[in-house]
Amino acid sequence: MENIADPLAVARDLIRCPSITPQEGGAITLLAGVLERAGFSIHRQTFSAAGTPDVENLYARIGTSPPHLVFAGHTDVVPAGDESAWTHPPFGGEVVDGALYGRGATDMKGAIAAFVAAACEHLAAAGGRPKGSISLLITGDEEGPNINGTVKLLQWAHARGEKFDHCIVGEPTNPEQLGEAIKIGRRGSLSGTLTVTGKQGHVAYPHLADNPIRYLVRMMTELMSESLDYGTEHFDASNLEFTSVDVGNRAVNVIPGQARARFNIRFNDRHTQNSLKSWLEARCAQAARGDVTFEIEYAQGNSDAFLTQPSPFVDLVAGAVAEVTGRKPTLSTSGGTSDARFIRSYCPVVEFGLIGQTMHQVDEHVSIADLIALTAIYRRILDRYFS
Ligand SMILES: [Zn+2]
Repeated sequence: MENIADPLAVARDLIRCPSITPQEGGAITLLAGVLERAGFSIHRQTFSAAGTPDVENLYARIGTSPPHLVFAGHTDVVPAGDESAWTHPPFGGEVVDGALYGRGATDMKGAIAAFVAAACEHLAAAGGRPKGSISLLITGDEEGPNINGTVKLLQWAHARGEKFDHCIVGEPTNPEQLGEAIKIGRRGSLSGTLTVTGKQGHVAYPHLADNPIRYLVRMMTELMSESLDYGTEHFDASNLEFTSVDVGNRAVNVIPGQARARFNIRFNDRHTQNSLKSWLEARCAQAARGDVTFEIEYAQGNSDAFLTQPSPFVDLVAGAVAEVTGRKPTLSTSGGTSDARFIRSYCPVVEFGLIGQTMHQVDEHVSIADLIALTAIYRRILDRYFS
């Protein structure tokens, strides 16, 4: 049947599109073509914002009724780095010894290809239309500033009345073997800079100055002295790390006027950004004992933790993974953030994709066996979801 897509061919063709963020590189066009031939209606959206490059995004849907399952992912990739370090060219899509090589093979053109192939197979078996709706929400801005991508595409879809029931994000979730882990949530992330202002002066006359380093050290000690928590049912313990301490003072005989420390907190569902801000400010105030002024400035793009509660949908995905791979996936919340943090405001979201081992590395690759197994997993999910 002509609407059957071969996951290896689609993944290879996508890898040959040099779609380094924010370049479209032909990847969205290629995907739109495959999906259009399979009967999806295609919506291409380019979003812009001052100071950031325009980014192309794709929304494709087949079916008009609920239930509505959406697959989310990104066609953009990180740069190849030193191309001469690659054994197989990063945008060549070469198949060698049972593996497909190239930037994006695992993160995440391979998973997109697997989902597209699974959807085509499912539709072919169902007479061309699902018993509900299948959509793909694809951005070209996941590895970049995250401004003209998923957030805006979700807002656009919401404004035109799209209602999603469940979402699967195809990010690589497995540490070493396919089937090890499904992500059902992500930790939150809060970054900021703590600035302490003292009084500049001559080191030989310290009584005329007030060294902010003394207070900064006190505050940092206070913040590092206790654990935020000991983990929760589905999350590891929250953790604060200082990532930089800066005074920028080149003189040996001057007490500086200001000192700064940058930090990041990865936190679980016992905290929110706001509760942590209150905690930080209270602890710093306690350490300052009213002796000095300080200020905490928070970075852009901080996010709260989220958890998709175990549910029939999570069981359906875990069951499909177990049947195809023979492994019982753990329900994990570890690792960095992903676009799932934006999607979770619209519908329950889980993540399952390929093996993360070579992502963002030289000679990124995916085994063809894993590509085929992931296609079978997505196919099973679709078959069960619309049964
Ligand atoms: Zn990714």
